Amino acid sequence: MTVYSGPVFDMAVNQFGVIANYLSIPMDERDRLLLPKRAVTVSCPIHRDDGSVAVYEGYRVQHHLTLGPTKGGTRFAPSVDIGEVAALAIWMSWKCALVGLPYGGAKGGIRIDPTKISRRELEAVSRRYMQEMIPFVGPHVDVMAPDMGTNEQVMAWFMDTYSMYQGRTVTEIVTGKPVTSGGTLGRREATGRGVAHLAKRVMNELSINMNQATAVIQGFGNVGSYAALELQQFGLKVIAVSDHTGALYNEAGLDIPALMKHTSEHGSIAGFSSQMQFDPEQILTLKCDVLVPAAMERVIDAEVAEKLQCRVLAEGANGPTTPDADLVLEKRQKDIFLIPDILCNSGGVVVSYFEWVQDLQQLFWEEEEVTRREYQILDRAFDQMVVRSRKDKVFHRTAAMAIGVEKVRNAKATRGLFP
Ligand code: NAD
Repeated sequence: MTVYSGPVFDMAVNQFGVIANYLSIPMDERDRLLLPKRAVTVSCPIHRDDGSVAVYEGYRVQHHLTLGPTKGGTRFAPSVDIGEVAALAIWMSWKCALVGLPYGGAKGGIRIDPTKISRRELEAVSRRYMQEMIPFVGPHVDVMAPDMGTNEQVMAWFMDTYSMYQGRTVTEIVTGKPVTSGGTLGRREATGRGVAHLAKRVMNELSINMNQATAVIQGFGNVGSYAALELQQFGLKVIAVSDHTGALYNEAGLDIPALMKHTSEHGSIAGFSSQMQFDPEQILTLKCDVLVPAAMERVIDAEVAEKLQCRVLAEGANGPTTPDADLVLEKRQKDIFLIPDILCNSGGVVVSYFEWVQDLQQLFWEEEEVTRREYQILDRAFDQMVVRSRKDKVFHRTAAMAIGVEKVRNAKATRGLFP
């Protein structure tokens, strides 16, 4: 029995089961690896603009503390619950271990629709959430970051709230902050850039000419927009993008910088062009070279997986593909090259780690150095995944997760079980 439930948590459990069987992990070791170390639920009351009081539920899950502090994003979305947050924390653990960071995974969030509240209300709920979290987090305990529905501004409010309570500025308590408040150059772009960098590596391996290639992006937030921008700069035509308001299609390629300007001014792609509107339901199954799901979990199920027409599936979002869809993709490995989420979107946490290191040292790097080191780490993890997948003839996701799980398992084995 656990307090965690729901389809996203079940998915993380199911995926772990596949890895545990592949690695022949004894049954009595599995719960210790899988179940989160700590979880907290808080209620965050705020004054609404109309004078009423509203209470929003917030969560934070810290998966394991074996390798160092925990690290993970904070999601503001109406779907957030403790099971979803736990699953995301577990995936963060395998991701951090895969790319060799000294962190365990964490995740947090508030069950709220940030598009339906004012900026003042957003600030109030962000600050109250951070204040409620103070007993559970710290620069050497648990370091927060942005995720769906949060951004640099929210991180600045988190950092300011924590610092006010400490009586000094503690920039290293969160990452993904504005550069003016202890953030690092290259963090805003890091996740999308990493997705595009790995997609480029695969296109080179598959001899796909980037100047004749096409990309489709689901979700046009932080990850999706920067992945689109980078892929366009590599020469690809980004023929379709979608967000929560709809989808746009243009065979000749969308103007990504113009679309980014539009979304930063209007909050979504709606109203960009009435001539290019498209059915968002069909976006994932469009014919293209690179498909980047960069919105939410579980959008590619077995039925969608059968219909995919991409050559490279670059998972920008966390958990976009269900275990049933994985079975289909495993059979389609010859025509679709999967870059699994824990590798594909790990550029974000890699550069968050760089931000934390820079804040602790108060020594800041040039953007070129940030990005060069990011790609170095991604390339190393990519190579390890491919070698493992070929050696053991396992699916890319299995190989990537197994490397992460093994590292956590080995660290637990050498530290022993206290007391
Ligand atoms: P974001 O809030 O900046 O953007 C999310 C985007 O998804 C928005 O464009 C939103 O409109 C769109 N969206 C929401 N519901 C949708 C739907 N039903 N159909 C199509 N689009 C929809 O969030 P983000 O930070 O870009 O995160 C996106 C995904 O990437 C999440 O799964 C997140 O966990 C993952 N991720 C983010 C980072 C990061 O650094 N931000 C790092 C690793 C993984």
